[in-house]
Amino acid sequence: MDDAPNREHFTLTPIGHVISDYPDKFGIPRQPGLAPAADARLVLTAPYNNPLAVRGLEDFSHLWLSFIFHQSPDRWTPLVRPPRLGGNKKVGVFASRSTHRPNRLGLSLVKLIGIDTQQGVVLTLQGCDLVSGTPIIDIKPYLPWAESQPDAQAGFAPQAPSLMAVTFHPAALDTLAQRQDSATLHALIEQVLGQDPRPAYQQQDTASKRLYGVRLRDVDVKFRPRQKGEATTLEVMAIEPYAESNGNA
Ligand code: SAH
Repeated sequence: MDDAPNREHFTLTPIGHVISDYPDKFGIPRQPGLAPAADARLVLTAPYNNPLAVRGLEDFSHLWLSFIFHQSPDRWTPLVRPPRLGGNKKVGVFASRSTHRPNRLGLSLVKLIGIDTQQGVVLTLQGCDLVSGTPIIDIKPYLPWAESQPDAQAGFAPQAPSLMAVTFHPAALDTLAQRQDSATLHALIEQVLGQDPRPAYQQQDTASKRLYGVRLRDVDVKFRPRQKGEATTLEVMAIEPYAESNGNA
């Protein structure tokens, strides 16, 4: 038997995991930065939580996170349907940011707010697009002079998606007003619903008054589409404590 390590297979060990404002996959914006009000902490795991390993990182404003799409199935197909194309056109998996890909590797550019090395290492991040619990496999500082390409061509996603108008029912505003994090939660809800998290096939359904729920922080945000002439807006109807019994846990 050949005891030499198999050089065609690589084992990855997470260096930590993210605790984010997104308890569920549903509703998370499709790229980081689309919801700058989203807060997250990256908690490093021993032995990677050595403060020496992040020395100098505090002087960088942005980081690349490599992570595993651990909530995606471990199978892939060569063609995927990007939500950006309405879910009815296909492109190659390697021409997409699909979460269903070989090796399930993800890459996100996030803002670094601070580093706490009191007990292990905890990074505070902003604008993260990761579900809480996502395993992180690497961190690299972002180098704008090498990596920022303002003239780059972005295929089928040439610019940021257009935003949906979001309104709040007075009852929802009342609930918000009672919270300590009311300003940031208000902003987060607007930014997340502004991306229209409804599945593509339901976005066309202008007659539907269906109530949707998206989990953010410790609440379940109930919203529904509202038709105003030609335009659809999303109205936040209620902000409820999250009930484990609704099966999303
Ligand atoms: N910026 C990353 C992610 C793009 S896909 C990249 O380009 O690689 C973004 C979507 O990933 C989000 O809408 C969210 O629903 C999903 N997602 C986030 N964390 C995930 C995880 N741990 N497992 C599976 N899907 C995840």
